[in-house]
Amino acid sequence: MPTNPAPPLVLAVSRCLLGAPVRYDGGHKTTGWLLEAPETMIRRLPFCPEFEAGLGVPREPIELRRGPGGVMRVIGLVSGRDVTPTLEDAFKVIADRLDGESPEAFVFKSRSPSCAVGSASVDGRADADGLFAAWAAARWPDCPRVDERLLENTEGVRRFFEALRRGRSRLCLGDGPVDAWERWLATRTPGAASAS
Ligand code: SF4
Repeated sequence: MPTNPAPPLVLAVSRCLLGAPVRYDGGHKTTGWLLEAPETMIRRLPFCPEFEAGLGVPREPIELRRGPGGVMRVIGLVSGRDVTPTLEDAFKVIADRLDGESPEAFVFKSRSPSCAVGSASVDGRADADGLFAAWAAARWPDCPRVDERLLENTEGVRRFFEALRRGRSRLCLGDGPVDAWERWLATRTPGAASAS
């Protein structure tokens, strides 16, 4: 009797990486392997904090700034408007939606003031988390977070798959889709081939 295959990985993904034209300039940042991976390996849960906050497309570019007490704020580059509360309202809506789908990991867009993992600019340095990526770390502490660039190099891919396997063990899910995705990704990214 055939055994049931393990369920696909459930990845929450920055919507612009999936080809949606939701960036501030009306563009997207399609990352091919994220779109091409079969549904049997990856279930994609898109989110876009800035779009879902109603900031519009196209929209004024925003940036992170450190406010009083070091608290991060997100400010319009032209208007100087503080959109932090508007974004935080959207985070809660996104969280309610994602919670119903139980994401196992996040793939974020790099360098975004909302989505970056350690690569958003603040005070002249590009080493901060975007506001939503930081919020997500506190909201889903067991979910690995990466940006799309990390999955293009050997060490990043290795660490991501390790974290996925740890998470799957905790959830008592099989590693089948992780193995399949790792093999598949190795055919797409030169660095990933030696990461398995
Ligand atoms: S980086 Fe994040 S906030 Fe910016 S367009 Fe992509 S999903 Fe939306």
